[in-house]
Amino acid sequence: MIDEQVKQFCEEIENTLKEESYDNIDKISQINGAKVLAAMQKNQLSDIHFAATSGYGYNDLGREVVEKIYADVFRTEDALVRPQLMSGTHALTVALFGLLRPNDELLSVVGKPYDTLDSVIGIVPACGSLQEFGITYNQVDLLPDFSFDYEGIINSINERTKVVLIQRSKGYSYRPSLSISQIKELIDCIKNVNPNIICMVDNCYGEFVETTEPCEVGADLVVGSLIKNPGGGLAPTGGYIAGKHELVEKCAMRLTAPGLGKEVGATLGLNQAVIQGLFMAPETVANALKGAILASAVFENLGFDVQPQSTQSRHDIIQAIDMKTAENVIAFCEGIQKAAPVDSFVIPKPWNMPGYDADVIMAAGTFIQGSSIELSADAPIKPPYTVFFQGGLTHYHARLGVMFALQSMKDKQLVSLL
Ligand SMILES: *Cc1c(COP(=O)(O)O)cnc(C)c1O
Repeated sequence: MIDEQVKQFCEEIENTLKEESYDNIDKISQINGAKVLAAMQKNQLSDIHFAATSGYGYNDLGREVVEKIYADVFRTEDALVRPQLMSGTHALTVALFGLLRPNDELLSVVGKPYDTLDSVIGIVPACGSLQEFGITYNQVDLLPDFSFDYEGIINSINERTKVVLIQRSKGYSYRPSLSISQIKELIDCIKNVNPNIICMVDNCYGEFVETTEPCEVGADLVVGSLIKNPGGGLAPTGGYIAGKHELVEKCAMRLTAPGLGKEVGATLGLNQAVIQGLFMAPETVANALKGAILASAVFENLGFDVQPQSTQSRHDIIQAIDMKTAENVIAFCEGIQKAAPVDSFVIPKPWNMPGYDADVIMAAGTFIQGSSIELSADAPIKPPYTVFFQGGLTHYHARLGVMFALQSMKDKQLVSLL
């Protein structure tokens, strides 16, 4: 249980955050909420769209309206929003295979992409990777101060460069996440060299954190997961790909079959949860952001390095905290698990997860398996012992998560609140 001292410590810090940070988050969620509502009204969302389809899923009216609403919210010509997109990684994979052809090159301009894409691209040899299809990969790292290496980017673009991948969120790396205006700078630079290059943004964890989305600043395609921000914690599975009509069409041909494209794909009664989740998403993201800021402020106050700092602007929902020791990481994650509505009695343990070079500990007791818009924390057990904290469907739960984590550390005498 949370003791009075931990509660007071967190509450006092939170009181200082209200005017400066929380009010701004509420303003952003109000704007995004209005955008989402307008898209639902414009497309005449109705009862009938919640009906289940089966089999081929021809004439799935709900699916079609969900995709139109997504296209409007992300300010794109078209969208593919499907439960058959099984995760963010799968949606990104479908997009990459949909857009790239043998002898094309994929270029990442903000360093190595999210870990799970290593085998998709073939950075790590894997069966069925882009590399096996003769699609090459190149990458330009960020400069030591995390700024863009424009010279490197311009020099890396060649006649085979077909798609440029821009990852909005830091994911689980230690670099700042990109603001929409930074994404615009990158896209302007790339389009200036060759306007035909497709700029694709991995939008995972970034949706609704700002009031504009990447396609409003020139991105051709955005891709993300429905068990993160835009699913609002209600979508039980799925992913989305939104952007230029012709590109979304190519992705649809890859997801289903050439010739079938967007015309098939039963939604099995999931449309209501997907669209209601989108309705909740602006506020859910705001709740998660408030939790992230509180975590940042609390651990900053205790002398830990945090990224971003509590007063810095935010471009995704992830809070990184350098915990200094493995004991701290483990105690923090145990606290997050204790705060969960599901599996709170489980004790998370570091384990040797495939694809990682160190043991990894994951704390999550979520309604939807692996959902990281729900309160969760993950950390590789290696210096600087960074824990990545994210999610919280409600403000009360995000706040309790921080308190449980701190209590767990205090109980093990790893922190002193005096
Ligand atoms: C989570 C994430 C992914 C992968 O999504 P999954 O649903 O976990 O497969 C890709 N890119 C980024 C930046 C992410 O945060």
